Amino acid sequence: MIVGIPKETFPGEKRVALIPAGVSAIKDAGLQVILESGAGVAAGFPDASYEEKGVQIVRDREEVFQKAVVILQVRAGGANPVEGMADLKRLRDGQVLIAFLEPYSEAQAVRELAERRVTSFAMELIPRITRAQSMDALSSMATVAGYRAVLLGAGALPKMFPMMMTAAGTIVPAKVFIVGAGVAGLQAIAMARRLGAVVSAYDVRPVVKEQVESLGAKFVEMELETQGAEGTGGYAKEMDEDFYRKQREMMLRVVAESDVVITTAAVPGKKAPILLTREMVKAMHPGSVVVDLAAERGGNCEVTKPGETVVEGGVTILGPMNLPATIPNHASQMYSRNVSNLLLLLVKEGEIHLNTEDEIIRETMLTRDGEVVNARVREVLSL
Ligand code: NAD
Repeated sequence: MIVGIPKETFPGEKRVALIPAGVSAIKDAGLQVILESGAGVAAGFPDASYEEKGVQIVRDREEVFQKAVVILQVRAGGANPVEGMADLKRLRDGQVLIAFLEPYSEAQAVRELAERRVTSFAMELIPRITRAQSMDALSSMATVAGYRAVLLGAGALPKMFPMMMTAAGTIVPAKVFIVGAGVAGLQAIAMARRLGAVVSAYDVRPVVKEQVESLGAKFVEMELETQGAEGTGGYAKEMDEDFYRKQREMMLRVVAESDVVITTAAVPGKKAPILLTREMVKAMHPGSVVVDLAAERGGNCEVTKPGETVVEGGVTILGPMNLPATIPNHASQMYSRNVSNLLLLLVKEGEIHLNTEDEIIRETMLTRDGEVVNARVREVLSL
């Protein structure tokens, strides 16, 4: 059985779904790997580094899709809705596709995968259970994004992060406020602390307080009713507009005092809540920076323009997209491990074995035999 790795086609995407170091685990399971020439180059993995591991390099993309029974990608289907369209026609009945597929937001793309009768697995749907941790690509990519967000904030700030006592006087440390202390937020806290900033953070899930404090940051206490704010899998639940209004009022003082605000607040399958209004941005000092990691989900800041940098009242608001692709080598290393662990779960004696008794396989499977099979996706897309 052949596993195919096509080159990524999403604009600016530099990651690759499988790195050379990940090939032997796949071969040990009795599978062969073919790679579209150049697929790993942008992540620092030239064709030769795959050839050394026994991967066959193929020039023609079409051939990768024809020969492979399983296709591994970073972004396919709804996660690459324009450039990825051409691949849709290349997929065939029963072929297995594993990739980020944007199952909650791109209904049309999900339907088309079903129509092609592809057996697709969306990396976004990996359940948050201990056994699936090594496949949790959302967490790995959030780790990369959280790290990068701090560097972006530091780079845009006309100040330094650490305290410095010099002959030219004392430099006070930068104040960083992180909204949403999930995987990306916690990584951002750790990174901002490493750079010497004074860090505070807030999350609606009360359990997070201890994690924030253990990283040396201050948890901002707010008189908000957060009982029931945590849903299944450790994710936040959507709160009502009254809650968000109160939260904005209570955050105003901390936001106004901060040099850098990094927002990461998200609710799976929903648009990101607006937690930073234009008024709040106005209250910030000129030169301050907002890094809105929720930009891809519409943004946590009212002023954010996804993919752009906006300067308003001297405050810089960054709305970066696809941040993990800006650190393609390590991001690919992590993704490659996640995706191959899922693949290996599907393989028995060198063949694909779709055991839907297995919670990970059942929950991650998006389409099969012409149907959208994931219950939650069917509900969100009203199918
Ligand atoms: P996410 O990207 O969906 O959301 C980011 C953060 O935003 C979350 O912490 C959420 O609580 C927070 N948020 C939502 N609304 C907010 C608001 N109004 N104000 C402030 N914060 C708000 O989530 P994520 O980072 O992918 O994961 C969240 C949590 O899931 C993790 O911290 C962890 O506890 C859990 N998790 C569990 C596993 C596992 O068990 N295998 C794996 C990964 C994550």
